[in-house]
Amino acid sequence: MNAPFSPRISQSRSLVRHGSVLDLVGNTPVVLAEKLSPPGREVWLKLESANPMGSVKDRLALGLIEAAEQDGSLKPGQTVVEATSGNTGIGLALVCARKGYPLVIVMAESFSVERRKILRYLGARVVLTPASLKGTGMIEKARELADEHGWFLPRQFENENNEQVHEATTGMEIVRAFADAPLDAFVSGLGTGGTIAGVGRALKAHMPQARIVACEPDNSPVLASGLPQQYADDGAPAASHPRFRPHPMQGWAPDFIPAVTARAIADGVIDEVLPVSGSEALAWSRRLAREEGVFCGITSGATFAVARQLASEMPEGVRVLAMIPDTGERYLTTPLFGDIEEDMDQVEMEISCSTPGSRF
Ligand code: PMP
Repeated sequence: MNAPFSPRISQSRSLVRHGSVLDLVGNTPVVLAEKLSPPGREVWLKLESANPMGSVKDRLALGLIEAAEQDGSLKPGQTVVEATSGNTGIGLALVCARKGYPLVIVMAESFSVERRKILRYLGARVVLTPASLKGTGMIEKARELADEHGWFLPRQFENENNEQVHEATTGMEIVRAFADAPLDAFVSGLGTGGTIAGVGRALKAHMPQARIVACEPDNSPVLASGLPQQYADDGAPAASHPRFRPHPMQGWAPDFIPAVTARAIADGVIDEVLPVSGSEALAWSRRLAREEGVFCGITSGATFAVARQLASEMPEGVRVLAMIPDTGERYLTTPLFGDIEEDMDQVEMEISCSTPGSRF
């Protein structure tokens, strides 16, 4: 007979019964990158893939919809329309499905096809805009549709509820998780800037020694350039930023500085901006998956690359937290899986060569 075996099981996940999947948004775990932290330093990961639709944007979707329900700007059964690189759309698709709002998502055709399929699967309608029109074109289209049809537009890039959701949830969760082991730095990229603005505000208030570090693609130094952004009267971007260049970090660094990000910069919430390359992003995403078992998207690898480098340049004993905004499954058709495609071709070749006459 085998010796009695006690299976390892989470002691911290709660067994509370929930009335709705929406109750599962937030309270995401933090995990130490035990194998990939630089010697003598700790790099921790905030795993937003633990949200119901697998990204940090589930928090924002729920927050923006419930704030609009409360202030009366969203009516029962009204159609919701938003411009998004995908994750906000997927979060909105979950929230709108559960609450019964029709949803239209405006997305540039350059974002991965998985995102489109997930949106359709959850019942959203998807309007694609040409990649050449970039983020500003996508926003303009969503505004046009909202005006034309009287649809509700959450305006994630401008809405102050964006940073407020992150301050109250993501930020305060981090403050609680590290209450007895304060952070020396927090590292995050920016799409709307809501995550870094909200977490930054919470840490400035409760853990002021933590440096708030933003990262952006090295070939698209929009924030680092210090050049201002032009805005229309309603706070939406009026034109593409001159330093924007296309980059592989889907969900980060649009072709403009969102109002949410501009407010965070003006309020001194962001201490510094560091660059990261596309190749580092891909390499560290893969290492997180293959060595830590943390299966994540491209921006997670990018953030980890910066957090790890920063930790290695800081004194021994430092504690740095990196955002892991989403899951790797959203990137099957992107360069993240490029090395696997080559590998699969190789495996198929080996199988067909070693078993004569058989093809799988
Ligand atoms: N990473 C990914 C994969 C994202 O989709 C987003 C949001 N678009 C971010 C990071 C950045 O989040 P935020 O909008 O809060 O700055």
